[in-house]
Amino acid sequence: MAICPTCNAADISNEQRICSHCARDYARQLDILRRHMDVLQLVIRREVHFGERGHGGRAAFARLGIDEHAEDVGRDVEYLLVSIARDSGLCPLPWPRLIRSFLINIRQVTAADGAAYYFGEVVRANTRIERLTDRPPRLRRLIGVCPTCESLAYAAKEDSWIVCKGCNALLNVAQLRTDARRKLEGFHTTQTPSGAARYAAKETGIDVTRDDVNNWIRSGRITAPKLENGYREFPILRLLELAERKTDFKQE
Ligand SMILES: [Zn+2]
Ligand SMILES: [Zn+2]
Repeated sequence: MAICPTCNAADISNEQRICSHCARDYARQLDILRRHMDVLQLVIRREVHFGERGHGGRAAFARLGIDEHAEDVGRDVEYLLVSIARDSGLCPLPWPRLIRSFLINIRQVTAADGAAYYFGEVVRANTRIERLTDRPPRLRRLIGVCPTCESLAYAAKEDSWIVCKGCNALLNVAQLRTDARRKLEGFHTTQTPSGAARYAAKETGIDVTRDDVNNWIRSGRITAPKLENGYREFPILRLLELAERKTDFKQE
């Protein structure tokens, strides 16, 4: 049985280039792309406006009423979709019908030579569009580290695939989360409470104070055995979990 180039699972069925699990995710990403492209059209025509990008200057050069940067992204996506159609032996149509055709003929799309590559490109396209349309930005949490370049990887609650900011690799959120937790299980850091706060803040990007850490110790939410000179042994995983929960609390 062949190995899936996307997730390394050994369950590719006949004629397919990626496993059934990745095929399902590919279809889901195409569906997300269809919705993203709808929103992107509005951004291109400036019918909706999502926050700031760059400062000043733009108005003098931009064509009236058109967001040229969003238009470029839209053009790249259309080009990508036509490439997928060609690779899958499907008729190139205008993008809304083309994505629908991919979803109807998903087995043909996932059987194409470039299926694994194009799956990654669709996730990348979704990430690019999200950067233009995601306002206010969704809460993204540290979920792990890219196995290729060791950049910290962040994901929103509903993300199942993300693109590494460091090396552009396609990363599976569930896999990354499991790997990260497994690695951190049992690891400790020797810190004072304020050192632990700085450590957690650095790792999660969340503002953590010494008072937070002292509260966690006092309330028994973290067990950090006392050493000498005000130092304690903090379990790393728990420390990061509590830091992340802090933003949950703020969001609600
Ligand atoms: Zn797979
Ligand atoms: Zn990376």
